[in-house]
Amino acid sequence: MGDEKREKLKDLYYKIKDCKKCSLYKTKNKFVFGGGNANAELVFVGEAPGKNEDLKGKPFVGRAGKVLDDLLGSINLTRDQVFIANVLKCRPPGNRDPRAEEVEACKGHLFNQLKIMEPKIICTLGKHSTQLILNTKQGITGLRGKVYRRGNKIIFPINHPAAVLYNPSKYGTLQKDFKRIEELLEENIEKEAVNLGEEKKEESRQLGLF
Ligand code: SF4
Repeated sequence: MGDEKREKLKDLYYKIKDCKKCSLYKTKNKFVFGGGNANAELVFVGEAPGKNEDLKGKPFVGRAGKVLDDLLGSINLTRDQVFIANVLKCRPPGNRDPRAEEVEACKGHLFNQLKIMEPKIICTLGKHSTQLILNTKQGITGLRGKVYRRGNKIIFPINHPAAVLYNPSKYGTLQKDFKRIEELLEENIEKEAVNLGEEKKEESRQLGLF
């Protein structure tokens, strides 16, 4: 079971890594699939790769990533215990907002990732992922910090960690929301990294999958 989800994610990665479903493939440097633990009970969904992510092909590696790491640390979690993805897999030029047609073209990739992982909690980071996952046009301010239940899943919208870089006073709200995540996870989350064979571990690490 542990290996199954990771292998399915790997297959999906190879299937979509050269995607040309919207024009962003022309301007990106690297495709950013997302990364983390394929068996995570907690999946974060951000907006789109930024400059550093686009250069490295990994999610949340810039300053916002540092904020996310700190917040994870505050509830005793590390990146290899969660999965981090974005609505868009290619960077919009100049970090502009995703366009509706880009989200429409790319959303199937995210939905397929979520279908494979079947996480207990989907934590949406900021407006774009929240509106997509909750299928609403409502702004993040009214949705943030509330728990939405869809079948056996919990959707928990919070502010995007990058918001702290422009407005440090938002850190307290994020901290509070991470405490709520900890409560939602209760004792059920698999806190141990999945134990893989060394060979598989290396290939998976190169893809950013654990
Ligand atoms: S942003 Fe998504 S839909 Fe557009 S080219 Fe990249 S992977 Fe494909």
